[in-house]
Amino acid sequence: METKKFKMLDEKFTCLVCGKEVPPLNYTARDHCPFCLCSIHIDINPGDRLNSCLGILKPINIEKGKQDTFKIVYKCNKCGEIKRNKMANDDNYDIILQIMADNARNFNAKS
Ligand SMILES: [Zn+2]
Ligand SMILES: [Zn+2]
Repeated sequence: METKKFKMLDEKFTCLVCGKEVPPLNYTARDHCPFCLCSIHIDINPGDRLNSCLGILKPINIEKGKQDTFKIVYKCNKCGEIKRNKMANDDNYDIILQIMADNARNFNAKS
C-alpha cells in the first residue's frame, strides 16, 4: 500500500465566505468555492487539514500555467501566506476576469 500525500477530499461543503452550498467537483478535490473563489487556510499540504490558521484565502491574482490552465493566487487574510490553487472548471468566470482586470489596472497604474 502506498500512502498518498495528496488526499482526495471531494465533498460537499458550505462556503464560510459567501454561505453558498458547494457541490463536490467529481474530477478532483475541490479546494475553493466556485462562487466567490475564496478558500480557507486549512491545509499545509493539499488535503491534510493540518493548518491551524483558518484564515480566509482571498484571490488576489490569476496566473497562467501550462497548457491553458490557470492558477488562482491567494493571500491569507490572517497570516499573509501566499497559496496557489488550480482553477476549477466551474469557477465563476466573471470573478476570474474581474481579478485579471484589477491586476492589469494596478500594473498600468504603476508603470
Ligand atoms: Zn464562497
Ligand atoms: Zn493563514
